[in-house]
Order: sequence, then structure tokens, then C-alpha cells
Amino acid sequence: MLLIFGTRRYLHQLAMLTLLCAGCGNPAAHALRKRVVKFTLFFVPLFPVSTTYSTQCTFCGVQHKLPKEQAEQLLAQIGAQGAAPQGSAPQTVPQPQEQNPQQG
Ligand SMILES: [Zn+2]
Repeated sequence: MLLIFGTRRYLHQLAMLTLLCAGCGNPAAHALRKRVVKFTLFFVPLFPVSTTYSTQCTFCGVQHKLPKEQAEQLLAQIGAQGAAPQGSAPQTVPQPQEQNPQQG
């Protein structure tokens, strides 16, 4: 039986952050990206084998890897800033109409 397995890479852009770049020194927009490598069997991705986070400066293009904890911290900061409180709107439930039996 022939087993075909390998890995597949996924790149997710999580957010755009304004950070002070270590490469060019500008407070430039940085793309926060998550790179996931998944184990595949018969070209079907099964489970992630490695996840790395990195930021890329849109000004000079320099990339920095960062630990997962730091990436999550940055994402939490964005969430705290951008998340609007979702008020629970009262839902109006349509009343079922009663059917009057015809009396003859
Ligand atoms: Zn830069």
C-alpha cells in the first residue's frame, strides 16, 4: 500500500498593526501573519505540525518572527480597541395566528 504524505503551508493574514519598525525605524503598518504547516495524507490536510507568527513591515518589507504569546497579545489589543459591545437586541417573535374553525 502506497502512502502519500507531506506537508502543506498556509498563510493567514491576521491583522494590520502600526508598529515601530526595527528595520527602517518608521511607525509603519505591519502585517501580522500566521504561518501554519499542516501534515497531509493523500493531499488531505490532517493536523497542524507547526505554527509560526511573524510581522512584516509594509514600509521596508523586513520580516520579524514573534512568539505566539506576543502575537496573541497584539491581537488581544486590537480586539480591545476595535470590538464594539454587542447589545442584545430584543427579538420580536411573531405570534402564531389562531385558526378559527369554521362553524356551519
Ligand atoms: Zn520597516
